[in-house]
Amino acid sequence: MATCRECGAGIYGRSDKVFCGDACRNAFNNNKRSKRDREAAIINRILIKNKNILQSIVSQGRRNCKREELQAMGFNFNYATSFMIKEGGKIIVSCYNFSYVNSSNGRVYISSKIILNEAK
Ligand SMILES: [Zn+2]
Repeated sequence: MATCRECGAGIYGRSDKVFCGDACRNAFNNNKRSKRDREAAIINRILIKNKNILQSIVSQGRRNCKREELQAMGFNFNYATSFMIKEGGKIIVSCYNFSYVNSSNGRVYISSKIILNEAK
């Protein structure tokens, strides 16, 4: 006999049923969705943290810093909101309204974009 994927109870009737009832189907799907949302929330937190770190550097009047300094602040270089490859291969990495370029000298050059005007 098949068992419910949510509660493990035996399922009677049609052999292709995977849940014992609507309540279990809904519970299963809600749980699946919340797991997916949690994963997205973790990435969102990383991105927001990256943005706040860039913001804190720029708000000190600085436009560049060592890559290690960002790392020490908890910056995660694996996440960004967009990339743009310029002629010559220079990669501009964006994190919301901030963007940066990794230079071969080990420094990161930061600029802040005014995206509200561009969105029009
Ligand atoms: Zn069930």
